[in-house]
Amino acid sequence: MNDNVLKKEFSKKDVQRARNLVKGDMSARTTEGIGYTKKYDHHIEGDVWEENGRKWTIKNGLKQNVTKMDKFKKMGTTPLFCPECNNLMKKHLDSKVFPAYQKCFDCVVDYEAQLKKEGKSEEYFNKLRNQHIQSAMDEYKVFMEDAIKESNSNYITEAGDIEDWKGGKSKKQLEQELQEGLEFFENLKS
Ligand SMILES: [Zn+2]
Repeated sequence: MNDNVLKKEFSKKDVQRARNLVKGDMSARTTEGIGYTKKYDHHIEGDVWEENGRKWTIKNGLKQNVTKMDKFKKMGTTPLFCPECNNLMKKHLDSKVFPAYQKCFDCVVDYEAQLKKEGKSEEYFNKLRNQHIQSAMDEYKVFMEDAIKESNSNYITEAGDIEDWKGGKSKKQLEQELQEGLEFFENLKS
C-alpha cells in the first residue's frame, strides 16, 4: 500500500468519524429528558454487554443497540460475493436464490446435489427452502418489531458505524415497511 492510498483511507475514516459524532450529538439532544440519564454508569465507551437478550454498547457516550442491521437493510439485494464460496455473484439466478439461502446459485446446486445423493425428494427441497425463508422472516420480524418499539433508534452496523436507522420515519411507516418485508418473504415461498 503506498502513501497516497493510506492517506486516502485515513481521511475517509476521519470523515466517517466526524459524521458519527454529529449523529451522536443529534440523538443526544433528542433523547434528553427521557431515559437519557438512565444508569449505565458501570459501562464505559466501547463496552459490549447483554441486557434483556440484546447486545448494547457505549459509543460517543451514548448507549446503542448492537445489531446486525446491515443484513436487513440489504434484504432482497444480493451482495457482490457469495458468503460461502466467495465467488462473484453476477448471475440472475444468484439473486433469485440468495434471499432464501444466503449463498450463490452454484452453492445451492452443490447443496441440493448432496441432499439428492442422500435420497431426498423434490418435496423435501421445497419444504427445506420454505423453512429457510421462514427463519429469515422470523429474524426480520423480531428486528423490525424491536426497532419499532425502541426509543433509542441508533444502531451500530457491523462496520462499527452508528446509524440513525429510523431516519425520521414514523412508527406507522416502519410498520408499513415490516408488512411489505414480510410479504416479500412470503412471495419467495413455493
Ligand atoms: Zn457460493
